Amino acid sequence: MTAELEASSRKRILVIEDEPDIVRGLRDALEFEGFEVQARGTGAEGLTAAMDWAPDCVLLDLMLPDDNGYRVCETLRSRDETVPIIILTAKAQESDKIRGLEAGADDYVTKPFSVAELIARINAIFRRQSRMSSSHADETFTIGSWSINARKHTMSRGRTSKRLTFYELEVLKLLRERSEETLSRDELLEKVWGVQTSTTSRTVDNFIVKLRRKLEEDQKNPRHILTVYGLGYKLVP
Ligand code: CA
Repeated sequence: MTAELEASSRKRILVIEDEPDIVRGLRDALEFEGFEVQARGTGAEGLTAAMDWAPDCVLLDLMLPDDNGYRVCETLRSRDETVPIIILTAKAQESDKIRGLEAGADDYVTKPFSVAELIARINAIFRRQSRMSSSHADETFTIGSWSINARKHTMSRGRTSKRLTFYELEVLKLLRERSEETLSRDELLEKVWGVQTSTTSRTVDNFIVKLRRKLEEDQKNPRHILTVYGLGYKLVP
């Protein structure tokens, strides 16, 4: 393989972050891991780079000089349904994390974060992506009246189509594989998120809340993703 081909097969990571020290640290670590890195210090420049450079993954700071990261995330997501977005946030509060995930992010890490953990998450997203494009290329399944397309990351019904993040899709696929069985939060965490220091069973609960909001007619009385008290969750397709 020529050096050129090798270079072109490297995954591209766009860092949208205004703190030079963090950018420098991320760039060094990511390049060391073999990723190609570009960095932008404002939301506007970041959005332009995302369109021009077509990164494989975006690391997005929430506190940017010209815009808030949630809006940048929403804009990014509206232009590209599938690019993984990982939010870098100094805000440790749960509500901020949920807001970021609702803006279309796939994951978040809280500053100060460990670069090793961040890289593990990036690699986990890429592994999931390649697993999905190889073994689940045309997989579709239904939950209630929704048709889930694993390749397109969408759930659709009639003219309505919603995007599913990687983790949402993984949770649904796992619940579906084990349909009618109860999966514990720990098992979901381990199988979907892998072992990560900052994920907790709250992460699972937040995802279930979000998924129900998307899937269920009445999220207060879910009919498909059921809570089994003291045990976990199960899917009734
Ligand atoms: Ca910042």
